[in-house]
Amino acid sequence: MGAIGIHHVTAIAGPALRNLDFYTRTLGLRLVKKTVNFDDPGTYHLYYGDEAGQPGTILTFFPWDHAAPGRLGVGETQEIVFCVPEAAIGFWSHRMIEKGVPHEPLIKRFGETVLAFRDPDGMRLALVARSGVDAASGRSTPDIPADHAIRGFHGVSLLIEEAQPTAAILTDVLGFRETARENSLIRFTGDAAFGRIVDLRAVGGFLKPRFGAGTVHHVAFRAADDAAQAKMVRKLADNHGITATEQKDRNYFRSVYFHEPGHILFEIATDAPGFAIDEAPAELGQALKLPPFLEERRAEIESRLPDLG
Ligand code: ZN
Repeated sequence: MGAIGIHHVTAIAGPALRNLDFYTRTLGLRLVKKTVNFDDPGTYHLYYGDEAGQPGTILTFFPWDHAAPGRLGVGETQEIVFCVPEAAIGFWSHRMIEKGVPHEPLIKRFGETVLAFRDPDGMRLALVARSGVDAASGRSTPDIPADHAIRGFHGVSLLIEEAQPTAAILTDVLGFRETARENSLIRFTGDAAFGRIVDLRAVGGFLKPRFGAGTVHHVAFRAADDAAQAKMVRKLADNHGITATEQKDRNYFRSVYFHEPGHILFEIATDAPGFAIDEAPAELGQALKLPPFLEERRAEIESRLPDLG
């Protein structure tokens, strides 16, 4: 069935330029695709990731200039976690102070050091110091040395009312295994190099989420290809009574969507074809890319999008 893990995470942001600045300059991720929301072409869809834009490293945003702030609640993704080499966590602690990024003191979670911080929209992010990730090459920027760079996702934590129904989807349909428990957290682990962790935090339903800037829209999981995706969709229906949407062509992957029992929107996205389908690997993210069905409207679309400099 291919690698088990997160393919990408998609969130809502405030102004596009502020979002671009934070993720590419402060965090040092690469803008690997600049396109529009295919369902709402007046809005950017910005994709950040590692140098090659591999599944397991991709965080995407729909930025809106006037997005109202969201509020975290039950039935939502609580935190998106990236991993860095163990020796880099001091560099990042210092960098959060230097760049004025709101952050918390280092804590231990499942034996690993965690640095929690917020993006400019207040979205909850964290870096985990993970042993062995320095084997993957990092992307250097003018002020982030390659050996300290973010390598990709560690995982996400999901805030839900009760763990068991969501756990059943993670294990039976998506291929994760329960590997650890700590306080109110249950950890599920896949086998992908990046994005292999999903932590469930069951809290009982006390706070309704409000979607808006700084909230996660959905979490996408990996399927090797269409056949693997179709198999997961069948299992979802046969074993859990959940019907996924029809497959949608997202140009860089093909996707189905469903709400898992804890009300979080999940996607299953194919690894293929990837971000190099319409741009050379060296040029990823430079030009505004549109899917064929929007290309004839390019002039109108470009005139409505904010300038990213
Ligand atoms: Zn998606």
